[in-house]
Amino acid sequence: MTKPLAPNATIGVLGGGQLGRMLSVAASRLGYRTHIFEPGANPPAGHVADQVTTAGYDDANALRAFAATVDVITYEFENIPTEALDILEALRPIHPNRDALRVSQDRLTEKTFLRDLGLTTAPFATVDDADSMTAAVAEVGVPAILKTRRFGYDGKGQARLKAADDAAQALADMAGAPALLEGFVDFSHEISVIAARSVDGQVSCFDPGENVHKDGILATTTVPARMSGSQRMDAVLLAGKILNALNYVGVMGVELFVTPKGLIVNEIAPRVHNSGHWTQNGCTIDQFEQHIRAVAGLPLGDGQRVNNVVMENLIGDDMDRLPDLLAEPAAAVHLYGKADTKPGRKMGHVNRITQKTA
Ligand code: ATP
Ligand code: MG
Repeated sequence: MTKPLAPNATIGVLGGGQLGRMLSVAASRLGYRTHIFEPGANPPAGHVADQVTTAGYDDANALRAFAATVDVITYEFENIPTEALDILEALRPIHPNRDALRVSQDRLTEKTFLRDLGLTTAPFATVDDADSMTAAVAEVGVPAILKTRRFGYDGKGQARLKAADDAAQALADMAGAPALLEGFVDFSHEISVIAARSVDGQVSCFDPGENVHKDGILATTTVPARMSGSQRMDAVLLAGKILNALNYVGVMGVELFVTPKGLIVNEIAPRVHNSGHWTQNGCTIDQFEQHIRAVAGLPLGDGQRVNNVVMENLIGDDMDRLPDLLAEPAAAVHLYGKADTKPGRKMGHVNRITQKTA
């Protein structure tokens, strides 16, 4: 048994968005402090944290000073620059580890890792220029999606190819960034598994949720997802396999496509995940507490689902509906404290709860 973080210890969090905010709240409930490191001013997580450092990831002195005040470091996003990690890792433990970041920062490394684990992914090929694009279309076929290898989120950095004729435009859309062409998966629906692994190797998965995207952004997650018992077991087993292979500590989001031929892994996120927000009102222990427990060296908690939940993201103008949402019975509203509403910006979410059916 590893020695857990003592009460009142400080957890450093890289990134000050809504995920960092909800991690801070969970940490606080377990008696820990948090220190947020975030380049942007007035970060949502800063409102509920013990300390905030406003500095860039290229500021070595700020990174060292931050590390000196914390006992362990975690993060809410995967695109942390390598140089910053080098500095931090020399000073404090970072969970999830470098391997998890290395694998998930680049879609090529990620897909290769998943395939080498024996899991099924969409067919893929790298694209750097017109020649490799032609070769990739020949290999992968159409329809297909061209995605930048790095820094994609909410469907950004992606171009769809309905036919081979669309190749030139799709390549132009990448603006020279290294890319990956993925064969289009004919899925019936999308699900995700939010999985956790403790320092001691204990693994616990939340019930898979069914995800619907609008304009490339997650709109709703519904639990239970439409899945057979054996699909559910497959989903949980493959998530456990991924966590074990990475010697992972913390919560991970595993996005999957459900097809008649079985589950296909879309991508993994080495952090708490938007599609796991339902756990806040669907489980005794939610994904944020589970992550903090793992990072702090505590045993994982009881993540069993106790309610049916539909999580709806509140994006941009959805905030205008707030009075109605607040008046709804059996609806828990979670807001991120962002001052400005912008189109496409995640402002909060609502968890609608009904009695557990399955
Ligand atoms: P997010 O931040 O929402 O996770 P992302 O920008 O990292 O998104 P992906 O998850 O790769 O991008 O893709 C976004 C959505 O596009 C997927 O949830 C799915 O609906 C669709 N999509 C992605 N890849 C494929 C594919 N190979 N076949 C079919 N649909 C796909
Ligand atoms: Mg995704």
